[in-house]
Amino acid sequence: MGLEPSEEKEFKGIAASPGIAHGEVYLLSEKELTVPRYKIEDSQKDAEIKRFDEALLVTRRQIQTIQEEIRKNIGEDEARIFDAHLLVLEDQALIGEAIRELETNGENIETSVWEVGHRYIEAFSQIDDEYLRERASDLKDVLRRLLSNLTGENLEQLGHLEKAHVLVARDVVPSQTASVDRSKLLAIVTDVGSKTSHAVIVARSMNVPAVVGMGDFSKVIKHADDVLVDGYDGKVIINPSEKTLFKYGKLDEERKSLQQRLIRLTNLPSVTRDGHAVSLMANIENSEEAHQAMVMGADGVGLFRTEYLFINARHSPSEDEQFEMYSAAAKTLEGKPLVIRTIDLGGDKMPTNSDVVIPNESNPFLGYRAIRFCLDFEDLFLNQLRAILRASVFGDIRIMYPMISGRSELRQANRLLEVAKSQLKEKGLEFNESIKSGAMIEIPSAAIACDTLVEDSDFFSIGTNDLIQYMIAVDRMNDRVAHLYDPLHPAVLRVLKTVLDTAKKGKIEAGICGEVAGDPIMVPLLVGLGVDSLSMSSSVLPSVKYVVQNMTYAEAQNLAAMALEEDYSAKIMETLLDFYNDRMSQLY
Ligand code: PEP
Ligand code: MG
Repeated sequence: MGLEPSEEKEFKGIAASPGIAHGEVYLLSEKELTVPRYKIEDSQKDAEIKRFDEALLVTRRQIQTIQEEIRKNIGEDEARIFDAHLLVLEDQALIGEAIRELETNGENIETSVWEVGHRYIEAFSQIDDEYLRERASDLKDVLRRLLSNLTGENLEQLGHLEKAHVLVARDVVPSQTASVDRSKLLAIVTDVGSKTSHAVIVARSMNVPAVVGMGDFSKVIKHADDVLVDGYDGKVIINPSEKTLFKYGKLDEERKSLQQRLIRLTNLPSVTRDGHAVSLMANIENSEEAHQAMVMGADGVGLFRTEYLFINARHSPSEDEQFEMYSAAAKTLEGKPLVIRTIDLGGDKMPTNSDVVIPNESNPFLGYRAIRFCLDFEDLFLNQLRAILRASVFGDIRIMYPMISGRSELRQANRLLEVAKSQLKEKGLEFNESIKSGAMIEIPSAAIACDTLVEDSDFFSIGTNDLIQYMIAVDRMNDRVAHLYDPLHPAVLRVLKTVLDTAKKGKIEAGICGEVAGDPIMVPLLVGLGVDSLSMSSSVLPSVKYVVQNMTYAEAQNLAAMALEEDYSAKIMETLLDFYNDRMSQLY
């Protein structure tokens, strides 16, 4: 397929990293390494295994060097991506299988590494889970490096680029993104991938615009073609006209100036025009993210997803290691609340190390996950509870239990909290005796009968991500049914109202920590329904704060009353959008 010279053409993909870029294409060819295949004598087998061991060692050193560079130049979190690569090199199952293959086939080690590696990649790519599919790309990255070290053939590196380019490829691996000097990289466009690809995570943290999931784009485009990349809306335009460039130039300026204006709000309180306060909190996945929450003016952390300390870790963190991480976050928050959610493993969040084993189930979202699993594995749970309690002397730490379905689970969790307290007392260790604990309301049974949970909760936090998926029976990760995932469904709104009213009656605080809490269009409605707090990704805090500061509580209550009366969610959305656009127009 080709294009007429200078014919403008627009392609649509997935917006993966925000920003606008314009420049020449560097097309990264998907160069397959040539893997030599030959028979070996029995007497050569030991030498082949030795060659394999050496290549594993060299590959490990190379990845550690890349990791160190990234740690220095980008950050600790991004460097940790390469832990997954190092884990592949330690995977005894994979290494053992390659050696067994060598022994049975009597062929060189490259052949068995290639065959075993591709079997693993194939298996990962088939899994109906975005996270695990992405791990296939980690495996591919390591395998290419390992094979290149065995064969002596060079990988295509990008360090040689002389001027800045838009990098276009079928797929990029994290070590490639990381090997380019930021000043030489305008944007990244790939045929495959998703927002959670590691290469994209690296791009985001380097502030490089990215569009992924572009189909066969890399076959349409040529080296040095002129392209414009819109990482906000996931568009790529080949041969953009003067008019298009002007439009995008203006758009880019507007977005940047909007961000600057909003950032000025970070140190102002989150209060409506008529004086109603709503706490705006941050969702974090590790203790370092608490810094970003503070920079963005969060009133605290409303959700620390601690399962991420177990996912991608080489081993499960011990009580002391967890204590360090929770204390660090508490200290960073300087007395602001830190709500630590106990491990929510299972479902879409599977641990990668073998210390915690969650069985394969046909319906994991309705299965053995989160609190269900923690109540069975008391030692693991008590370990975490003790770590949280010990850290509670460094700030306003609160404990939150995920996936509570009813009263007895909540009571069992609180009973174990008392056990953890007495274990610490026995050892003479300090903690906050009156630490608050609360239930996440994210299962319909808990939401509908939340009056039975009030007595045993100091607060409620509504997890709308799961609550909506379970209420409407719509998998939150399945794009085929995504149109049914409707936060404005009358059933959802009624249930939110029930939970918030019940909390108020029971004199406990209630907030929302699902993704809707960070959607500035939804915020007036949620405030009107009666939330005390909203917890969201730090990056959206300024826009949400702007909306809160530019409405009255009375307006929010009117919107909520309208929404509860209306049967059609599209109508509610129209009114919410009008309201939002009206407030945003006042920003200019
Ligand atoms: C939720 O379900 O809304 C929630 C915040 O938890 P998670 O997204 O981690 O399941
Ligand atoms: Mg949840």
